[in-house]
Amino acid sequence: MNQSVSFKIVLLGEGSVGKTSIVLRYSENLFNDKHIETQQASFKTKRLILDGRRIELAIWDTAGQERFQALGPLYYREANGAILVFDITDEDSFNRVKNWVKELRRMLGNDVALCIVANKIDLERDRRVPMETAEEYARSVNAKLYHTSAKLSKGIEELFNDLAHRMLETA
Ligand code: GDP
Ligand code: MG
Repeated sequence: MNQSVSFKIVLLGEGSVGKTSIVLRYSENLFNDKHIETQQASFKTKRLILDGRRIELAIWDTAGQERFQALGPLYYREANGAILVFDITDEDSFNRVKNWVKELRRMLGNDVALCIVANKIDLERDRRVPMETAEEYARSVNAKLYHTSAKLSKGIEELFNDLAHRMLETA
């Protein structure tokens, strides 16, 4: 098989929206009911084979920094893909995504593949962000919208597979 391709993916979003849970579900198929404190910005490596190509993903998760400035440029530098997460039960977390998108586009231009993730869909009863609102917004910034539950393991594989495909196309 030919050489492997490496991509950097960064996760962004307000605290408690489920960023670490999404990474944990994807990389180790685990879920924890408690908020998991990440001490430092760190990344996990995941290898996969897609369309016969070996791919290595470096998935960066924040250490709970909520402001873009607090992350520092090393975090998002040379990212190929960004996953912007909000919690469907928390309207503020959705509004915050809009700020992250602006910052990312400013710092990384239009080449970065953006995924907007509506997480915690298992809490549909408490939904505060209408699906159409999120869809419309995602379209307006040329990003794709994904619906996930790290808890129930819904939409997580699809999210990363789809992002990997998109990054391969532009690589
Ligand atoms: P982070 O601060 O964005 O990294 O968020 P965490 O991954 O630490 O998750 C914050 C809280 O939300 C924890 O209590 C998780 O168990 C919970 N959580 C994460 N994803 C989901 C989900 O899909 N559904 C539900 N119900 N809870 C979730
Ligand atoms: Mg976290």
